[in-house]
Amino acid sequence: MKPAPGKITLIGAGLNGPLLATLLMQRGFSVEIYERRPDMRRVRMSAGRSINLALSTRGIHALRQAGLWERMRSIIIPMKGRMMHSIAGELTFQPYGKNETEVINSISRAELNIALMDAAEEHGATIHFSQRCAGYDLRTGTIRIRHEETGEETIRETEVVIGCDGSASSIRGEMLKLSRFNFSQQHLDYGYKELTIPAGSKGEHLLETHALHIWPRGNYMLIALPNIDGTFACILFLPFEGADSFASLTTQAQVVQFFDSRFPDAVSLMPQLAENYFANPTGAMVTVKCSPWHVEGRVLLLGDAVHAIVPFFGQGLNCGFEDCTCLVELLDRYGADWLRVFTEFENERKVNTDAIADMAIENFTEMRDRVADSRFLLRKKVELALEAKYPQLFVPKYAMVTFHRIPYSVALARGAFQDRMLEELCESIGRVEDLDWEKADRLIRCDLAPLELRQ
Ligand SMILES: Cc1cc2nc3c(=O)[nH]c(=O)nc-3n(C[C@H](O)[C@H](O)[C@H](O)COP(=O)(O)OP(=O)(O)OC[C@H]3O[C@@H](n4cnc5c(N)ncnc54)[C@H](O)[C@@H]3O)c2cc1C
Repeated sequence: MKPAPGKITLIGAGLNGPLLATLLMQRGFSVEIYERRPDMRRVRMSAGRSINLALSTRGIHALRQAGLWERMRSIIIPMKGRMMHSIAGELTFQPYGKNETEVINSISRAELNIALMDAAEEHGATIHFSQRCAGYDLRTGTIRIRHEETGEETIRETEVVIGCDGSASSIRGEMLKLSRFNFSQQHLDYGYKELTIPAGSKGEHLLETHALHIWPRGNYMLIALPNIDGTFACILFLPFEGADSFASLTTQAQVVQFFDSRFPDAVSLMPQLAENYFANPTGAMVTVKCSPWHVEGRVLLLGDAVHAIVPFFGQGLNCGFEDCTCLVELLDRYGADWLRVFTEFENERKVNTDAIADMAIENFTEMRDRVADSRFLLRKKVELALEAKYPQLFVPKYAMVTFHRIPYSVALARGAFQDRMLEELCESIGRVEDLDWEKADRLIRCDLAPLELRQ
């Protein structure tokens, strides 16, 4: 007999916590969340916290499962492709997918977070704000909660705890004290900073609306994602140290001069550039891998807490949302047999979250460097041509990750194989029209098994 639903304590009301709460409440569990920040619906957000996210198929699937996708539609902007900006101001558009249904969706982190918290509360979950998890006793299952404003500490009993508390997870910190807990964290030598392109005088977007804009400059880059209010949320990715780096830009004049020479067509749209630059924090980017993900069916890590990844594939949130759907599917199958559910969850997810972590690092070079290269653009065109002819057999790696729910580990392995095939097919041609279709047919039919495509 399946054990009955019980009470679940979530740590963190970021993006994964409230979505998971909704999915659990829909299954009859009772959920409470402890969140260290104040309620962002009542307190103004701090600067540099409104970076946009690209939401794609895996994330949308999870929102659909929770019945929340329709309400998100009014706060997203579909982006059909990358718009590359050269130093001379030339624009090159590269579609993301094979047609206009294959888009990624720009959404404000804050708006999404608010919509998810609203939904969790509507479903009956309780969110305790300004309440930090300051410790978890793995032996007794009690958590220590500190009120961030008063400093008061209380001890709470728990049945099951799920740490959705992000890349610096306090729950993971407790698990680190266990013997035989494996943990690695790898920081990039690059940081990021949020900047803004304001809306035009009539509230319009000052760049093409339905694109993710990129200013690739080899060692660094600027990107811009559209917001529904006509603004663009920009992110500058730059090394922490060195000649062109956050360390080297210390005065307003240096920042303006750097942008003038490297991103001239963007700087003219950023009247607040220097103020924004110094007002907003410089963020770090980290890849976290660890195991085990749970302890004795009593505590589990989920989302960035267990597999933080760098943002260059636009998948951290999508992957976390996929964790949420995977976890509740296992609960539907096994009931509240937590040890079994958590064990299966880790077995199913870890191989895939490790794969997307590696692909996200690879994609960094692609975005800042290769997107501006004509050979790379040719390969992208060849990929799309092959996909159009062999839709079940040849799906570009980007599409496997972004527009399908093919396991990340399959996308990684198949993507590497397809890369070698593309290398061979593209080495002696300069235009997609010159592709050797006979050779392509032979390679694809011999070496690639049909894919099971789910959206
Ligand atoms: C620059 C950047 C761009 C990104 N772009 C994309 C993108 O385009 N697409 C995409 O899919 N992903 C993207 N991501 C990744 C995405 O933001 C994360 O994967 C996602 O936010 C993870 O959600 P989470 O709920 O696990 O963690 P978080 O969103 O970090 O939420 C954790 C929550 O836990 C709370 N918390 C922390 N510690 C405690 C504690 N001790 N007690 C109580 N509460 C606590 C925090 O206040 C926070 O609210 C990007 C990330 C960055 C940095």
